[in-house]
Amino acid sequence: MQFWGFMTVATTKGTKTLQYQRALALGEVPRYTAGLQVRLKSGVRVYLALSALELAFYFEEDLALHYDREGRLTKVARPNQYHRRGLSHRGLSTRIRSVEEGGGIERHALSAEDTDALVKAAHEKVTPVWEELNAGPITLEDAKPGPAQALAEIVPSVARAAEFDLKVARRDAEKFHSIYGRVAVLPPDQYNSLVLQATEGCAYSCCLFCELYSGVFYGRKTADQFSRHLQDAIAFHGEALCARRSVFLGEANALTLPQGDLVRIFGVLRDHFEFPPHGDEHVPANWWLGHKTRFDGVSTFLDAFTGPHRTPQEFEELHNLGLRRVYLGLETGDDNLLKWLCKPATSASIAQCVTSLKEVGLVVGVIALLGAGGHDFAEAHVRETARLINELPLGRNDFIYFSPLVIYPNGRYAEQTKALKVAALSAAEMRSQEQAIRDALHFDEQRGRPHVGHYELESFVY
Ligand code: SF4
Repeated sequence: MQFWGFMTVATTKGTKTLQYQRALALGEVPRYTAGLQVRLKSGVRVYLALSALELAFYFEEDLALHYDREGRLTKVARPNQYHRRGLSHRGLSTRIRSVEEGGGIERHALSAEDTDALVKAAHEKVTPVWEELNAGPITLEDAKPGPAQALAEIVPSVARAAEFDLKVARRDAEKFHSIYGRVAVLPPDQYNSLVLQATEGCAYSCCLFCELYSGVFYGRKTADQFSRHLQDAIAFHGEALCARRSVFLGEANALTLPQGDLVRIFGVLRDHFEFPPHGDEHVPANWWLGHKTRFDGVSTFLDAFTGPHRTPQEFEELHNLGLRRVYLGLETGDDNLLKWLCKPATSASIAQCVTSLKEVGLVVGVIALLGAGGHDFAEAHVRETARLINELPLGRNDFIYFSPLVIYPNGRYAEQTKALKVAALSAAEMRSQEQAIRDALHFDEQRGRPHVGHYELESFVY
């Protein structure tokens, strides 16, 4: 049996623990249910913080390493900059630019070498912490709730994190790819979902601007195939499932499945997971937190050109089975631009689709595509998109996202705009376009104001 000794214990809470984001003592951060501040033999001080979501190592030198409950590195943070690492071993860097640099946020995907280096560097920082905890005795400067309990809860998680070297990280990512292929994108409020793929790829895949699923054959899983996929995913996520809030049914358009097939898919979900009954006001918002089988509902994408094929009764049936949120790529309210983008929807079909979703009480997210159609369509795009969004019965729980167009250098959109000499909007012009649409929006006071935010493809990593 392992014994962890300690030499000094528990100072006054909040006076000696390291700071959390310079504003709060780490010992006082409510979500960290267990915490240990240790001083290593080298003199380095580190606060180990455990929550239902993660284990975090806060080093005195303003470095924080975050691991999920399976011991996978998820984030490396320094002031004004952090790197996220997805289950896919894809890394993303985010940096807040200084005032001298013009301000704003800068994001870029990390190269494979940089992501490898991130894992290696984190492993080198975590290893001595584990070695000293394992060997004992160790100097404890603070323990929450108390030394024995904090050690018992935290040390096993430190051991897992210390095992996560580059070899383990690569093997883990291979396993991820064998289950998922890849996860192309999620709405920003769904980054924390458990993704399960009822379908693969996109059933249409012809929108001019979209390369998300190019090269991926569209495929539908039977209920049996989905069940095996779900069990593989559950085993892969392991303890980290405690941190996943919703289930996201992928990929691009799972709702293209016939109703009977979807009902069977929801049956598989309900065999394994619990969803709170919709409309039950007694269920607390964090009902799911810390449970591996509880989720606050199922979310998915829908296209306006496939949505109307489902009757309100069918949506109602899915709602009763756990469907809660539906995200729709509206792109624009301008029918001419929709046609030009080869998206077989109209503003009327989008309005009809959103209305039928809202009628059965589903939360809806709509995504407008900034910069679509370049300067040629800009005026109509702003006017018609604002008009369409204003027509939609959106309310306080719904989402309006603005997604800047990404032009892939060898993609179809780039080819068409080059051939037709359509000038693209710059990043600043896209920001102005967003502002112009926002300025023209008005919301129903009774229904409330939807959340309005950004949906950036390059800020996504799963
Ligand atoms: S925008 Fe949606 S429907 Fe169009 S190709 Fe992309 S995923 Fe498919």
